[in-house]
Amino acid sequence: MGGDAVDLELDKAHSARMYDYYLGGVTNFPADREAAGRALAAFPSALAAARINRRFMHRSTRFLAERGHDQFLDIGTGIPTSPNLHEIAQAVNRRSRVVYTDNDPIVLAHARALLHSHPEGRTAYVQADVTDPGTLLGHPVLDQTLDLDRPVVLSLNALLHFVTDDQDAHGIVERLMERLVPGSALTISHATPDFDPAAMARVTDTYVAVGTPLQARSRTEIARFFTGFEIQEPGLVPTHEWRPDPDEPFGSVTAAEAACYAAVAVKP
Ligand code: SAH
Repeated sequence: MGGDAVDLELDKAHSARMYDYYLGGVTNFPADREAAGRALAAFPSALAAARINRRFMHRSTRFLAERGHDQFLDIGTGIPTSPNLHEIAQAVNRRSRVVYTDNDPIVLAHARALLHSHPEGRTAYVQADVTDPGTLLGHPVLDQTLDLDRPVVLSLNALLHFVTDDQDAHGIVERLMERLVPGSALTISHATPDFDPAAMARVTDTYVAVGTPLQARSRTEIARFFTGFEIQEPGLVPTHEWRPDPDEPFGSVTAAEAACYAAVAVKP
């Protein structure tokens, strides 16, 4: 940061802080809470959807760590919320290495919480925008933290609905996965209008109104992110249906409440 003042734009709502509010965090400000309140009026299940999404991050990270993955590139990390991805991965393998990335200055401001790695592993934070994958992939911290000659898990959870078709969301994922060697994995969770189109249209309007383009996608459009990769069981499913833990508190959750699809795939 070099001592430069970071403009947190506290007078503007930001998606990371709205998500923090849904998760019950304290790193959100009046403009965020006002916008989140409008999104909740449009779609009262946003609180549940955020928690369900976060639980998918826990389960998919553990699933991949248990299958031997020990390197993770997490883009659109969000404001630190324990357990963070490295805590899950390092609980399975203390030597796991994680690079976190987000474009929101408030995530940068709180990044220290992401850097409490187990001493045998390593974590790093890169402030970057996924819509400029070349800069992200060329960042020296990536090479210093991860061995890109070995498989890496690319995790894009609740990120890609903030990247529109105009910004070439599918091309960006393709470019990122191109850089990773076979055996690497891709995890995605993504908002969808499939289960409750009217509610998702209202939520989209509330985000667009505060200057955050949101593009929920159909199952077919989300499946296209995985073209060429081997989707793992149980496939591309509503977030809460992705390998639920036996003690998962989501017995009565509906797909309309989850409002997102999720999947994990491996690059052959
Ligand atoms: N992945 C976390 C947080 C999701 S919230 C989880 O699933 O729990 C979405 C995050 O994506 C926010 O922190 C937001 O700041 C970030 N984000 C949105 N657009 C982005 C972009 N173009 N580049 C990088 N990060 C972005």
